[in-house]
Amino acid sequence: MITDAHGRPLRNVRVSVTDRCNLRCQYCMPEEEYVWLPRDDILSFEEIAYLVDVFADLGADKVRLTGGEPLLRKDLHRLVALLSSNARIRDLALTTNGILLAEQGGALRAAGLHRVTVSLDTLSPVRFRALTRRETHGRVLEGIESVAGWPGLKIDTVVIRGVNDDEIENLVEYGRTVGGEVRFIEYMDVGGATTWSPGQVMSRREMLEVLTRRYGRIEPIIEDTSAPAERFRLSDGTIFGIIASTTSPFCRTCDRSRLTADGVWYLCLYARHGTDLRKALRRGAPREEMKAMILSRWRVRSDRGAEERLAVGERRPLIQVGELKRDPHLEMHTRGG
Ligand code: SAM
Repeated sequence: MITDAHGRPLRNVRVSVTDRCNLRCQYCMPEEEYVWLPRDDILSFEEIAYLVDVFADLGADKVRLTGGEPLLRKDLHRLVALLSSNARIRDLALTTNGILLAEQGGALRAAGLHRVTVSLDTLSPVRFRALTRRETHGRVLEGIESVAGWPGLKIDTVVIRGVNDDEIENLVEYGRTVGGEVRFIEYMDVGGATTWSPGQVMSRREMLEVLTRRYGRIEPIIEDTSAPAERFRLSDGTIFGIIASTTSPFCRTCDRSRLTADGVWYLCLYARHGTDLRKALRRGAPREEMKAMILSRWRVRSDRGAEERLAVGERRPLIQVGELKRDPHLEMHTRGG
């Protein structure tokens, strides 16, 4: 197994297939217009499948398609078919905002997609509009309902104090109705979250307090896994998760890296610099050279971005708007959440 400077394996690759999105979530893409990646730089499906195969040579066996909004990428099911035919990828997942899921879910599943995670921050159409500046709440719910009961279905909610922190119990209830496991994510100060403030972060501890008041005893599920969510069980058996990336980061076990839609590979969500795999690929670098390039970066990987942020005394947004405009690769929507 190939491991980094902290003994973490290279297993999990998140592939952003586009930097475009059909929502403008205030905590991720608060501007209407962005500096978009040049079209010619966007990797083709064949290029992505090839790079994933090179990662698989080095031990990667989990791939998550993300963005931007991945379902905006035309014919995404074609990429899913290419990746699902790679026997070494034993977990092929997708993170989506759900707007186009009712239309595309069937084709994606038929193409071999294993799991889907849908982001849903609120059950209120009015709040959804304020949060995302779009009117598509109904389509998100339709999208989720269209995949209700799929194995591994997850609903991801970013919890923001004063915005949706009063909805966590209702979201747990909603998760039950669609057979999805709800995971509450602490609001993170990543690129794109340009109005983030520490006061808006609802911590894991606070979420558990609210849920205990409603449901009584909550049992932690002890698991030996590198998954970001800690999972909990209510007395009726309902399971939910919390991703405490802000107050209790999990860098110690992080085996994730990220490939942007234009082929830049980042070793940490918070990393300032990435490795341009597209350039090497398009100049025809032999497979062994690509592998050596990836390996040389992973072996010295020592990133603990979220833990370093936690150690910062007065925490403010990670990156200011001006810098994000100069380097769109610093954006969460480019890097893939
Ligand atoms: N468009 C897809 C979606 O909405 O799921 C995939 C990309 S989106 C960047 C992936 C995830 O990142 C979403 O669940 C989103 O809520 C989360 N995210 C974005 N900004 C975040 C922030 N500042 N803190 C925590 N999670 C964030």
